[in-house]
Amino acid sequence: MLDGNLLDEALTRLDEAARHVPIDPDVIEQLRYARETTKARLVVRMDDGSRKSFLAWRCRYDDTRGPTKGGIRFHPDATDQEVETLAFWMTMKCAVMDLPYGGGKGAVRVDPRSLSRSELERLSRSYVQAFAKVMGPDRDIPAPDVYTNSMIMGWMADEYATIRGEPTPAVITGKPIALGGSLGRDDATARGGYYLVRHLADDLGLGAGMRVAIQGFGNAGQFIAKLMAADGHRIVAVSDSRGAVARPQGLDVDRLLAIKAEGRSVTALLGDPGVQPLSEQELVATECDLLVPAALEDMIDGRNARSVRAKVILELANGPVTPEADRVLNAMGVTVLPDILANAGGVTVSYFEWVQNRQGYYWPLEDIHARLKTIMEREGARVWEIAREKGVSARTAAYIHALSRLAKAIEAHGTREYFAG
Ligand code: NAD
Repeated sequence: MLDGNLLDEALTRLDEAARHVPIDPDVIEQLRYARETTKARLVVRMDDGSRKSFLAWRCRYDDTRGPTKGGIRFHPDATDQEVETLAFWMTMKCAVMDLPYGGGKGAVRVDPRSLSRSELERLSRSYVQAFAKVMGPDRDIPAPDVYTNSMIMGWMADEYATIRGEPTPAVITGKPIALGGSLGRDDATARGGYYLVRHLADDLGLGAGMRVAIQGFGNAGQFIAKLMAADGHRIVAVSDSRGAVARPQGLDVDRLLAIKAEGRSVTALLGDPGVQPLSEQELVATECDLLVPAALEDMIDGRNARSVRAKVILELANGPVTPEADRVLNAMGVTVLPDILANAGGVTVSYFEWVQNRQGYYWPLEDIHARLKTIMEREGARVWEIAREKGVSARTAAYIHALSRLAKAIEAHGTREYFAG
């Protein structure tokens, strides 16, 4: 999980982008701090009759471009700094994709696996009781994140409706389909990354029969494996928190998905012909064309970046490559498709869910895919163009792209020159 200086680290990427575009310094000043971070103690009745309290936060980082948008994570290591860093990334991500949102994030410091199902429901509802004043379809719209899921979003939407006295599905996204969720939300993050790679393949020097290594085999990792394998690419290595496996001729993706559906580790594939065990570090160093970090933050850092042998890294996870690793990878000529673009398919389909809730009209899956593809390709191409024009990395280009949009919105209220002149 992220520690205190991560927000400072994240902000270095903003400063780097600001060196390449003429931006009023007041814009950077505004984006340096979260607008509003609310902290609460949730007191929850446990099954044994006792009451237990949990620290919780909701951060609305910047709302210049619209209501704040971002997930809620339940994690024992959650901190206010982490929440603010993640909310900052959401601000940039929504701007890269031109979604009419600012960035937000929330968290509860809890190990959800230590709670019963009823305790988890009470905790989720009490989160909304604490933060209902901050939330709203035109103010702040949460979604799932690490260790929260669609059922939790359904409980939260229900609690919000009880408080407001009317159903308000657009207050939260990632809901079950039966409660106003959108088709296509489940694989949206991976699908967005897949559309991006496919669209930029020629520029990236990627072609048919790519070798793909995937770190983390949860929602994002499994769906990218499925999409890539369906296109005839080879998944040569995958990992989860319990280990990693490789097979240079390609792993059996259907078997891997079945193993995960049974709650087992990818290492259950060991013993199949040609499948070898790998360490966490060996996975990063896999000989492949595309490396997909889809687990946690900071997995590729100054220590292991030199071992990377992929041509391209697709960041489906948030913050998997540290700024130090970025410098090493840039020098090595490895292209990193950055998180704020590469994994933005998730928030884009969340946006579609919000629009559908407000319209009261639900789109077929083909429409969701077509619209997601259009946006990923449009913004991906623009980021690539900026990278080429300015001779910067794709990450810096994505930040320049986001910053330019944010600056336009902030400056539309008047700049220093306007008021002084
Ligand atoms: P998930 O919980 O479904 O999966 C995470 C996977 O990472 C699990 O397979 C877990 O075993 C594995 N893992 C944990 N520690 C590991 C380690 N040390 N080495 C290898 N694997 C490890 O989560 P997810 O929804 O797939 O999210 C993964 C990442 O993608 C996170 O950074 C998340 O913020 C980001 N992301 C997800 C979405 C989405 O829509 N799911 C959207 C945007 C960003």
